[in-house]
Amino acid sequence: MYIIKLANQRVESEPAQPERCLGCGSGGFHKWGRAKVRKVLDVSVSEIRTQRYRCKNCHKTVAAKPAGVGRARRSYAFMAAVGVLYALGLSHRGIETAMGLFGHDIDHVSSWRDIQRLGKSVRSRLRSCSARVVGVDETWLKVKGRSRPVGVVVDVGGRTLNIELTGAGFDYRSWFESMADELGVEVVVTDDSTDYSASVLDVGLFRQQCMVHMKRTLRRARSRLSEQTRIRHEYLLDQLWRAQLHVCGL
Ligand SMILES: [Zn+2]
Repeated sequence: MYIIKLANQRVESEPAQPERCLGCGSGGFHKWGRAKVRKVLDVSVSEIRTQRYRCKNCHKTVAAKPAGVGRARRSYAFMAAVGVLYALGLSHRGIETAMGLFGHDIDHVSSWRDIQRLGKSVRSRLRSCSARVVGVDETWLKVKGRSRPVGVVVDVGGRTLNIELTGAGFDYRSWFESMADELGVEVVVTDDSTDYSASVLDVGLFRQQCMVHMKRTLRRARSRLSEQTRIRHEYLLDQLWRAQLHVCGL
């Protein structure tokens, strides 16, 4: 999950002066009033300073706070740590206990709020991405305390573009349609499962079987042949194997 970048979310205790005035675009400010101290829940700092600035040109004032904190008392890095624990399978009460072991006070309701906020943030980022070629695979994850199948869509760089709860009754056709419409997808790379291959083709997308899975399937199929068949069709099997290596670019 690319939202969780703890190293980039370090909280500084001092506020940075705004670059541009939101009213007139001017870059000239002077401090307006005294700095205020605010308590924060973070992995490295316990309080920050906020400061109001006044535009020298239009006199509009703006509040400045350090990067890495929003309106909530918990910093972005702290929320990301909560997200990591949730992704590892801890319940909200489990997160409350685990953070308490490190001396950080968070109740299970705040943990729930942070996860909702992270979820919204991830979804808004996913919508802004696009890709012509994507990889689609399913895995099992714990969702609301139950193990559920989850479909994941990644681009060629490995960035996650979409996550959906799948399984029995899931409308794969609509899923692939939305990939084509919203992300501009043309080619879907999947494993050799036939679960959703018909839906991919129905929507008019190209399907490319994952090369790693294809090699494994071919190797398994060859090993199941009797020795007699292998000897009798040695030339044909050899040609098949070479063709497959050629397709794989090996
Ligand atoms: Zn201004």
